Amino acid sequence: MKNIRNFSIIAHVDHGKSTLSDRLIQICGGLSLREMSSQVLDSMDLERERGITIKAQSVMIKYKAKIKTYFLNFIDTPGHVNFSDEVSRSLSACEGALLIVDAAQGVEAQTVANCRNALNLNLKVLPVLNKIDLPNANPEKVSQDIENIIGISMKNSVKCSAKTGFGILELLEQIIKKIPSPSGDINNPLQALVIDSWFDKYLGVVFLIRIKNGYIKIKDRIQVINKKITYQVEKLGILPQKENKKTLLCGEVGWIICGIKNISSIIVGETITSYIKPAQKSLPKFKKLNQKFTLDFFPTHPDQYSYFKDALMKLQLNDTALYYEPDMSKILGLGFRCGFLGLLHLEIIQSRLEREYNISLIVTAPTVGYEIISINGKKVYIDNPSKLPNMNNIKKIREPIAKCNIITPIKYIGNIIKLCVENRGKQKSLVYHQTQIMISYDIPLSELVLNFFDRLKAISSGYASLEYTFKKFKTSKLMKIDIFINSVKIDSLSTVTHKNNVIHIAKLIIKNIKKFMPRHQFDIPIQAKISNTVIARETIKQLRKNVISKCYGGDVSRKKKLLQKQKRGKKKMKNFGSVSIPPEIFSSIIAIN
Ligand code: GDP
Ligand code: MG
Repeated sequence: MKNIRNFSIIAHVDHGKSTLSDRLIQICGGLSLREMSSQVLDSMDLERERGITIKAQSVMIKYKAKIKTYFLNFIDTPGHVNFSDEVSRSLSACEGALLIVDAAQGVEAQTVANCRNALNLNLKVLPVLNKIDLPNANPEKVSQDIENIIGISMKNSVKCSAKTGFGILELLEQIIKKIPSPSGDINNPLQALVIDSWFDKYLGVVFLIRIKNGYIKIKDRIQVINKKITYQVEKLGILPQKENKKTLLCGEVGWIICGIKNISSIIVGETITSYIKPAQKSLPKFKKLNQKFTLDFFPTHPDQYSYFKDALMKLQLNDTALYYEPDMSKILGLGFRCGFLGLLHLEIIQSRLEREYNISLIVTAPTVGYEIISINGKKVYIDNPSKLPNMNNIKKIREPIAKCNIITPIKYIGNIIKLCVENRGKQKSLVYHQTQIMISYDIPLSELVLNFFDRLKAISSGYASLEYTFKKFKTSKLMKIDIFINSVKIDSLSTVTHKNNVIHIAKLIIKNIKKFMPRHQFDIPIQAKISNTVIARETIKQLRKNVISKCYGGDVSRKKKLLQKQKRGKKKMKNFGSVSIPPEIFSSIIAIN
């Protein structure tokens, strides 16, 4: 165990975690260049396309130092603000963390947040200044900023370039010297933390585990502490090697396969122990973040429902931050209410469902959860506006407020304050650190989750960074808008918004519906109502011409095309009563909020 080091790499997005991981693998000769394809750790297609890390992955490499050989297990972590959940998960399996800071960009909001996370878990943090090869790198200034803003000493920091390889050997030496080897006792009963899991088409469920005490060997019967679940270990090994091993020992990070083909429960974050000689206590669980918003997914084809459910189960195995439960809409039928950490998380799950599982979806507008206090004093949590009681029965609506930390160069501060105020933010603090400012705001989560991050990046030319966490529920003047099409309430279009914005939002929604709604043989009124009062309305005028009437003369092929198009359009629509509603209406509401 003395020659094992388990560490994570944490950083703000784009500061070079993945490049550094690849460089470490290459220098230690873990894999040939060809085996590495482009970047080993970003293995999902989506990750490579977007150039970001979504899933934490673990890799073991051998480092031959002067006297001894060391086994380094390192876990790459995502840096995007949406995926902080995955970061704490990786950290709980390690004794140390490399804090990578781009020597040209400097400290950013996620650098601070991730570093605090690591320090709270008692990890040894090793600061690394990366991209030292860049002409505008300023390691002295950035070192000062790290000391000032984060408050850790830079005395033992390493300067390197993941790109050129400069300083990487020095970094390896520091990892050996500064990061403690795992503690734990191989003679104690088995305790292993499940860090991650995923579904393999051929092997079934694979668990990634960190052994804190004891060991596991093939054929061992294991159980999940506090859950009456037992498995038999069929295969085990260490990533990235595909060959099997016979045992996983105290201090190691590796995978196990127990021949599970049906996913019945998610055990990421739980502790595994031996069935015959069980440990009594679970290991501390890692911090789990709550979903920031939820929305409904409905399969376009109702017969895909159970296949869709299976796909969600498999994705959740690999992404504990994804939450779902069955839901039903009068108009769209059976679907799932799903929870996400942010827009990027939503986009990723949606594209994985579409690409890996070939499921076409109708997506409703995202919404945060609210605490509702009814007239009779009862408190309920509601994450779907269509489930809200009538406004007349509601005494108070309490909305989630997030504590946001923003770090920005001084020159963008004016625009950023304006953006925060427009989003109902309340300033909590503002601290100057030479050329950087760190500001803290309380902002309603509903304002934050959709496009705040993109707008912040846009008004600061990409320089400002953001990090946020849920703070509290707070009473707010919120109202529920219901949408009626042809006098029928369309449940999936209900939305909650601040009193000052209701008219504006109601008009936008209706305009949007009008854009997508086809004409019928009769006039169709579209109304937005609060309680029973109409606050905005439009009418879709009846169809006057038939589609082919414009085609004078005998242009047969064009006529055919138009008719076919009309037929396709009809098939796609959801019929409700006498009115057909195209699925785009539900999805397009996202753009409004
Ligand atoms: P991650 O988001 O932290 O995983 O960052 P990546 O490893 O994907 O790197 C982001 C970008 O910075 C990529 O374009 C890399 O090629 C580049 N990069 C990473 N390390 C260095 C470095 O040491 N020097 C230079 N010049 N560029 C680097
Ligand atoms: Mg990356």
